[in-house]
This record gives sequence, C-alpha cells and structure tokens, in this order.
Amino acid sequence: MLTQILKPDGEALALARRIIEGGGLVGFPTETVYGLGANAFDGDAVRSVYEVKGRPQDNPLIVHVHKDYDISKIVCGIPAYAEKLAQKYLPGPLTMVFRSRGTISPVVSCGLDTVGIRVPSHPAAQQFLRCVGLPIAAPSANISKHVSPVTAQHVYADLNGRIPLILDGGRCTGGIESTVLDCTGEVPCILRSGLVTKEMIAEVAGDCKVFIPKAGEKVRSPGMKYKHYSPRCRTMLFSYADRAKAYAEYTRLNGEGQRAYLMCDGACAAEFRPERLLALGDTPEQIAANLYEKLREGEQVADIIIAVAPEEQGGVMAGVMNRLTKACGG
Ligand code: AMP
Ligand code: MG
Repeated sequence: MLTQILKPDGEALALARRIIEGGGLVGFPTETVYGLGANAFDGDAVRSVYEVKGRPQDNPLIVHVHKDYDISKIVCGIPAYAEKLAQKYLPGPLTMVFRSRGTISPVVSCGLDTVGIRVPSHPAAQQFLRCVGLPIAAPSANISKHVSPVTAQHVYADLNGRIPLILDGGRCTGGIESTVLDCTGEVPCILRSGLVTKEMIAEVAGDCKVFIPKAGEKVRSPGMKYKHYSPRCRTMLFSYADRAKAYAEYTRLNGEGQRAYLMCDGACAAEFRPERLLALGDTPEQIAANLYEKLREGEQVADIIIAVAPEEQGGVMAGVMNRLTKACGG
C-alpha cells in the first residue's frame, strides 16, 4: 500500500473522508500527538487499527469528535462537573470517560461499558473530524510500545505501507498524550496525567482524584499497564539528585567508545555541557513538547540514552515523568 503524506487542504480532506467511509485508516495531527483514526461505528475498521499498530486487544481507543458534535449520541450520564470542564478546557488535551450508550462499536472500548471522548483543538484535527462527520476512534499513530509520533514523518517511519494517508499538520505543540479523566464518579479521577493537570481540573470541578493502581486491583485504564513510549536503543534514567552519577556514566560509556547521549533539561545541560546532548528545554511545557522528538532523535544517533529527570515535580511534570519513566526507566 502506498502511504501518501498530504497537507490537510480541501482535496486531502475529501480523500480522508472517502478512506474513513470505506473502512480505512487515516493518520492525523492533534495538539498532543498524531492519531491513527477509524470510523468508530465500524468494528472491522477499528479492528484494523489494532492490527496495524500491533496493539494489545484489551487497550481501548479514544473517540475523537469535532467541537459541535452531539456526544449524547454516544455516551450518557454526563455529570455537571464534566460540563464545566468541557466549557473551560475543550477543545483541548483532555479525554473524558463516560458511560457508553452502546452505539459505537464495542471493539473501540474492548468490551468496557465506558467510552473516552476527546475534542482535539488542532485546527487540522477539527477540519478532518468535521469533514468526516463521524466519531473517530484513534490511538497514537505509532507501532505499539514505540515512542508516540509528533510529526507526520514519525508516523510515516512507523506505518509506511500500512495506511493510505497521513494528514500533515506540522509538529504537535503539546507533545504528550491527553489527560484521561474518569467522569463516571462523583469526583473526577485522573487515569493518565497530561497537559490538563490535576490542579486545573480541581479548580473547575472542586476536587480531583488521581488513580494509583494497587496490587490485585482491576486496572481502570488498561493502556497504563503496558510498556510504552520506548526508543529503539538502550536507556537509563537518573533522578535530578543523581545527575552527577548520570554524567559520570555518560563520560565512562563514551570513553569506552559507546555513543552515549545525555537527555536532560536546560539547567542540567548548563551544568555539565555534554557534547552529546538531547536537550529537553527549560519549562515543563517545553519539556513535554520536546520529549518524544528527542527520544526519536536519540534512537537514531545513540547507542544509549542517559536521561536525567527534571527537578520540578507536579503539574505538567507529572505527565512528563509518567512518560519518561515508561520510556527510559526499568
Ligand atoms: P493512546 O490513544 O494510544 O494514547 O491510548 C488511549 C489511552 O486511553 C489508553 O491508556 C487507554 O487505556 C485509555 N482509555 C481509552 N478509553 C478508555 C476507557 N473507556 N476507560 C479507561 N481508559 C480508557
Ligand atoms: Mg499510544
């Protein structure tokens, strides 16, 4: 199959619509990462998303809709706090999980009685969703477990020959996947942290919990149990407090003739000035935006990425640390 990369103009959007209506898949940009979309009503199309990615069958997809789509066709029991959150943060990088009406294909939610709904703010995502007019089930547009894609070229590198079209909306500015928020209870509960933080949610909803899986308890967001975001080279992760140890390891490995790269924030880079640097930036937002780009760059040039966690914690950094730990930890 030939994979086309097209700017999302009228002709490309019309092609995207024909592909989706025919049960095919389209790569599309969002403000977080690129998505791999299928018609959420079409079980066969959704099944092929899992096949193309090699995604585990029990990891549900998020349903993407344009900002005027009536989600009461798909979900029910929307609490008042979710309406308020939608007012404030949508379109944007927040996925809200509601009770399903059972109208979309059960393949989307892997048999769960809930559906994650997302209204992306990227203009090309809005244009694509509006042009298609259908709810689009989409995970990130990468091979399962690999680093999520933040450019059309990243999608192409993973899925070339497996999908017919990638809409190229440039580099994603958000950089990490959406916050997944369970809105089926009295108090919203974060299942996956992201750019819409606990603090931002609590400010509007009054309160916000964070789901921490306990041993033996049922996983509420199945995707969280899998290895994720991994570059195709060796990795190590050090805390900020251990950054001198990280630099010592970097020096030792390069001395042995290995290509070791230090991946760290601006403060750490200024302290050690490594020649082989994957610079993450200074603020939590910059670090989120650069993380996947730098992991993908790193796997091209490095034998080993030695990552140093930024000093700041909480807020957006909670999401960054979740991804960094899964990519480079363990
Ligand atoms: P991805 O699009 O690849 O970032 O993966 C989607 C994420 O959303 C995974 O972590 C899923 O577990 C989570 N998710 C999707 N639908 C639901 C749902 N109905 N309930 C809980 N988590 C969900
Ligand atoms: Mg993913």
